[in-house]
Amino acid sequence: MSHRSNNSSDSGIQKTATLPSPEPKDDPSLLDDEALRREFIRHLAYLCNFDTAGDRVTAIVLEGSFSGPITFWFASNISPKPGRNGEPAEVDRMRESLQETLDMLYAMKPSDDSRPLIKAQLFAKSVEYSKKKIENYISELKEDVKVLQSLKNAGALDLNKPDEEMLSKWLKNVLKLNDTPEVICSKAYYDWKLSGLYEVVRREARQGGAYRSYFENIRHLIGRLNHTMKAIVFLIKARDKLMLFDRPFRIQREHSPPAVPFPLPVHEMDFARITGKLIEDLADPVERHVCQAGLEKLDQKFGLSDKLITEGTARVWRLKVHAELILLNKIRTTNFEFAYNDRYIGYSKPACYCCSMYMKAQHDKCEFYGHHEVAYLTWQVPPRLDQDCLHQDAADDDICLENMINQIGSDILEFFRDPEPGRRLVGTKEFVH
Ligand SMILES: [Zn+2]
Repeated sequence: MSHRSNNSSDSGIQKTATLPSPEPKDDPSLLDDEALRREFIRHLAYLCNFDTAGDRVTAIVLEGSFSGPITFWFASNISPKPGRNGEPAEVDRMRESLQETLDMLYAMKPSDDSRPLIKAQLFAKSVEYSKKKIENYISELKEDVKVLQSLKNAGALDLNKPDEEMLSKWLKNVLKLNDTPEVICSKAYYDWKLSGLYEVVRREARQGGAYRSYFENIRHLIGRLNHTMKAIVFLIKARDKLMLFDRPFRIQREHSPPAVPFPLPVHEMDFARITGKLIEDLADPVERHVCQAGLEKLDQKFGLSDKLITEGTARVWRLKVHAELILLNKIRTTNFEFAYNDRYIGYSKPACYCCSMYMKAQHDKCEFYGHHEVAYLTWQVPPRLDQDCLHQDAADDDICLENMINQIGSDILEFFRDPEPGRRLVGTKEFVH
C-alpha cells in the first residue's frame, strides 16, 4: 500500500478508475472569454496550492466594478499562523506566490520580446514553490512504476505487443529518471501526456483489469506532473486575450475561521454510532436495513471501527471550513460585486462531496468547477449566519443543512442498493466492491 494511506482521518469512499472523468480541454484557444477567465482563475489557484495535504487547497474569486480595479480574493483551508507571544507571524507564501505570478503576467505585454523568458521564469518559480509536492508525486510515480515493471517481467500484464513495448520502454526510463522536478514537469506536459503511452495507461485504468489501480495512479500522477506547465499555458493565453489585465489589481486573503476539535470524544468514536445518525431518518425500515447491513460489511472488510479509534487516539482531529466555502461565506455576508458579473469561484482541486452539495444548495450565490465524491470526516460548515441581520439567509442555511443530511442518507442507500464497481477507500488501493 502506498504512503498515501497515512492520511486516513480523511477517509471516505471514492469513485475511481473504471470511468475516469472526461479529460478537461487542454487547449485554451478553444475556449470563449468567460470559460477562459474561469480556467485562468482555477489554474491560478492551482499554482498557489503547494502541499500534497489538504491544508493549502486554495480558492479564488474576483471582485470589481465594470472598469475599476480587480480584487483577487483568495482563501485556503488553513490560514498562515498569526504572530503570538513575540513570535513573528507565519509568512503567507501563497500570497507571495500569487503576487509574483500576477506581477509577471501583467509585465508580459503581448508584443514584448521577453515573453519566452517571462514564461520560463514563471514556470521555474511555480515549480520551486511546489517543489515538495512535485517531488512527492515523482516518488509515488516511481513506486507504482516499479510494481508495473515487476508485473510486466512476470508476464502478468495482458497487453498487445506494441503497447507492451511502448510501456516497457517508458517504465525503464522513469525508473532511471534523475532530472530536476522542473525538467520532469516539462516532460510530463510536452511528452508523456501527449504520447500514446498515456492513452495505454488511461485505457488500462478504464478497463478495470486486475492491476487497474496502478494504471489509474500513474494516469493521475502524469496529470498532476503535467499540470504546472498546463496552468501556465492557460494563464498566458488569458493574459493575451482577456481585458482583465488592462486595469490595476489587488490581492486580499479571506482568513479561515479557527479549526475546531472533532465533536466526539475518542471513546464515542463508534462507527455504527456515527453512520447510524445518517440513516436513522430513512423512513422505510427495509431501506434502513439495507444501509445498516452494507455499512457493517464495509466495517468488517476494512476494520473501520478500529481505525477510527486508533486515529482518534493518535491525534486531535480538527474540523476545517474548506477554502471555497470561506469565500462563499464572504460573498453571502457582504455586498460582494462579482467582477464581470460572473459568480464563479475557482479552486485548486475539485470540491469535495460535502462542499459541492453545500454549494449546489447556494446555486444563486456561486458557480464552481467540478467535484469529486470524497467525503472528509473533518469537514465543517461555515460559521452560522447572524440570525438578526440576515434572517432569510439564516433560514435558508438551516434548510440547506437539513437537505444535505437527507441527501447523504439517500446517497448511502443508493451506494448499497446499486453497487458500482471501481470504488475504493480513499488513500488506499483497496476496492470497495
Ligand atoms: Zn470541501
